[in-house]
Amino acid sequence: MKSAAEALRLLREGNHRYTQGIVDPDVVDRRSAASHYIEKQTPHSIVIGCSDSRVPVELLFDQALGDVFVIRVAGNIVSRAQLGSVEFAASFFGTRLVVVLGHSGCGAVKAALQHRQNPSPVVSPNIQYLIDAIEPNIASVPVNEDTDDSDITHDVHDQAMRANVLAVVNKLCAESELLKSLSEQDGLTIVGAEYDVHSGRVAFLETA
Ligand SMILES: [Zn+2]
Repeated sequence: MKSAAEALRLLREGNHRYTQGIVDPDVVDRRSAASHYIEKQTPHSIVIGCSDSRVPVELLFDQALGDVFVIRVAGNIVSRAQLGSVEFAASFFGTRLVVVLGHSGCGAVKAALQHRQNPSPVVSPNIQYLIDAIEPNIASVPVNEDTDDSDITHDVHDQAMRANVLAVVNKLCAESELLKSLSEQDGLTIVGAEYDVHSGRVAFLETA
């Protein structure tokens, strides 16, 4: 199994290829010759990303089938189902890198910011659940509660996206004894990252 550092290098290199419009021929070969993944998967990375249609994790890291264990949910939040999914890959496949991937222009984060400005009921309790999961994560981001939705600047939106990513990174160990123990004793590394939908670039965030 690859170490967290090796996995991080593969993701960085893959994203660099993606921004250059290059696809690794080996990745293409492994995509077309998928049969050897049928028996067993050994993903080197776990990625928790947003469901946003502009954030296709395997493509933007130029990775093949079997490389990345991907969990996608609006706002890249973590509830018990996502925690269990991360634990599953980390314990059964030995995957040692977990990336929490936010992105610019995240609609779920924007909805949570708007809800802070104007806390009226949303259209469905299930969407409310998503907003309720994001709101505490972005509580430190200053919004002007006297203005309307259109006054959320790109800067505030980006700050909130980053705060949400870092809160989810912290939550993974705070709410999972298994992940905490793997990260303290067995090389598991959890990092935050942000994807810029304009440039295609992923920047990894400094985290503890
Ligand atoms: Zn999003």
